[in-house]
Amino acid sequence: MPVVPTPLPVSPLSAPISQVWGVGPEREKQLARLEIRTVEDLLLHAPRRYEDRRKFLRIADLKLKEAATVRGKIIAAGHKTWKKGTRSLFECVFDDGSAHLHCRWWQAYAWMEDYYTVGREFLVFGKPDSIRPRNIDHPETEWIEPGDDEFIHVNRIAPIHPLTEGLTARVMRTLIWRALEKYEAQIPEPPFLGNAAQPTPTGAVAAHPIFLPSQFPARANAIRMIHFPEELADVEIARQRLALDEFIELQFQIRQRRQNFESKAKALPCAGDQNRLIKPFLAHLGFKLTEAQTRVLREIRSDLSGAHPMRRLLQGDVGSGKTAVAASAALMALESGFNVALMAPTEILAGQHFDNFVKWFRPLGVPVELLTGSRKTMAPKTKSDASPPTLFVGTHALVTEGLELPRLGLVIIDEQHKFGVAQREQLLRKGVYPHLLVMTATPIPRTLGLTLYGDLDVSVIDELPAGRGPIKTFVRASDKLPKVWEFLREKLKLGRQVYVVYPRVEENADGLKAVTKEFDFLKTKLTPHRVSLLHGRLKGAEKDSVMADFRANRTQVLLATSLIEVGVDVPNATVMLIENAEAFGLAQLHQLRGRIGRGTHESFCVLISDAENSESRARLRVLEETNDGFKIAEADLKLRGPGELLGQQQSGLPRFRFGNLAEDLPLIRQARDLVLRDFSTHPKIPAPSKSHP
Ligand code: ADP
Ligand code: MG
Repeated sequence: MPVVPTPLPVSPLSAPISQVWGVGPEREKQLARLEIRTVEDLLLHAPRRYEDRRKFLRIADLKLKEAATVRGKIIAAGHKTWKKGTRSLFECVFDDGSAHLHCRWWQAYAWMEDYYTVGREFLVFGKPDSIRPRNIDHPETEWIEPGDDEFIHVNRIAPIHPLTEGLTARVMRTLIWRALEKYEAQIPEPPFLGNAAQPTPTGAVAAHPIFLPSQFPARANAIRMIHFPEELADVEIARQRLALDEFIELQFQIRQRRQNFESKAKALPCAGDQNRLIKPFLAHLGFKLTEAQTRVLREIRSDLSGAHPMRRLLQGDVGSGKTAVAASAALMALESGFNVALMAPTEILAGQHFDNFVKWFRPLGVPVELLTGSRKTMAPKTKSDASPPTLFVGTHALVTEGLELPRLGLVIIDEQHKFGVAQREQLLRKGVYPHLLVMTATPIPRTLGLTLYGDLDVSVIDELPAGRGPIKTFVRASDKLPKVWEFLREKLKLGRQVYVVYPRVEENADGLKAVTKEFDFLKTKLTPHRVSLLHGRLKGAEKDSVMADFRANRTQVLLATSLIEVGVDVPNATVMLIENAEAFGLAQLHQLRGRIGRGTHESFCVLISDAENSESRARLRVLEETNDGFKIAEADLKLRGPGELLGQQQSGLPRFRFGNLAEDLPLIRQARDLVLRDFSTHPKIPAPSKSHP
């Protein structure tokens, strides 16, 4: 979406890949599998690693389990079969004059005979799994075809790109080399930079150029360097330049979206009326708001009376009291005579909110309605303009069920990370630029705060209500389970309640434990205490009654899947046992753990895991060591990437080729500052032609 709506000249880099010499229909198909369709796609196809081919190891110098490249001639090669010909492998012997190297492929293909022929010279990369005799299984190899292009492949730092069947590293490298030779001089600087000649195909054009700090190479140089670096250190320099371009482009889009929105949207006056409803609400709440809650409410009130509709993200760790803030914000809009919609990701959570809000709001004369897939308190489309300002609570059904929401003043989305950007927009479109408050307990690492949520203002509740018992967390192997059950019985005897969480509903081949399977066993194990079962395959009404029983302490133990991850609030439940803990993400475990520690009693979280590998162990230890949701989210982002943390497809986050959200905070900051400076010195950018709420 260009800021300056001039038609973009077609970039030479958007030429189809068939323009590169040597790309016929077959290669075109192979490249398409790697999502490479244009010359630009090819040039931006980043290597996945590099080999320093200026010096090879001698085969005689190979060391056990140490990856290395050698260069040798094939002196013997062929298939071996056994088990009456049902199994076969392909073996090759390389010789470089210093020693022999055996290589084996346990999956043999017919083409190998023709490719690995005696006399040919190869580069061989891999990790020796034995030294006497020297052997590498499944090495990466590259045939050094005699020819005048040898300088591309050897005696240099050679890139190894992501490949696909039928496309060798050597071919890929050759194609990229050719593309660079033909197009390098035409690689434009992005249009937002000073001296930019042409806009990029994506087309963000600044009204005024940004000047990059001088340590960054030109884009064309960076692209050459990332493929054919002179020194390994060049790779990171080049990557940073290309990542910076990506981040700047994203920041532009964020700023533009925000600016378009502000130029179009007039805010509904929703800041309330003399606290007519809020005052009695707070008086009967049963606790005093924390300072953090009060501060956040001030921020929200000022938004609700502002010139532009609120777009605010409310971040607060599990149990920090976001619901009371949401309720107060809702009352402001209700006082002003507008309807409010509150959307939650699960039926259980929507139901719980509904119960709370009915308790809080009906005494104030504010109607509260519920709409989920399985429960509704009103028929759709019956809400007339004349009825009093109402709070609508629901799941995604709020947007799918054809409900009309007249006079919609405020949209609140709870546990917003469970929704996609699209769903949020759908709900907003039920009104005319209503205010938006999105809430999340998944602390957002700063990099994502600046990218994914860059167009939202952020409020943070950084304080838990006083008088919360601490949570102690332990990681244990499953042979300790008998002791853990003993511990559960002890706590149950004291009158506390317990959650037990399993990763699966039903058992399947992955060997992870399933609620339905463990239910009977634990029921016996924990008698006379009453055990109930909750998972996503239950009907809405069943879920409600299971939750109601647990909340009322008619059942003492709740076996559940991660369904209870969000929102569920039962202060008397103080123990949580999570089996196969390694199957969950850290942020998710932290959310689950947030179900306990909500009352004054001390709480305990036991994570059971037999994960052999030390990385999984280290991951879980993070939870033993800290209760700080921020630290946990950052660790999770580093370990599992943003997709896992946020649900990538849903998140609306672009795929970065060079940028790395886990590591690039300094670059993201730099991009943001550069763009902000541009926007603040030149705030009057012409509005685009297309509307964008
Ligand atoms: P979350 O931020 O995870 O959504 P909730 O809104 O569910 O947290 O609040 C967690 C619990 O803390 C609830 O039982 C709520 O009633 C209680 N609570 C919220 N604010 C306060 C406060 N200021 N003082 C004491 N308890 C509070
Ligand atoms: Mg909540």
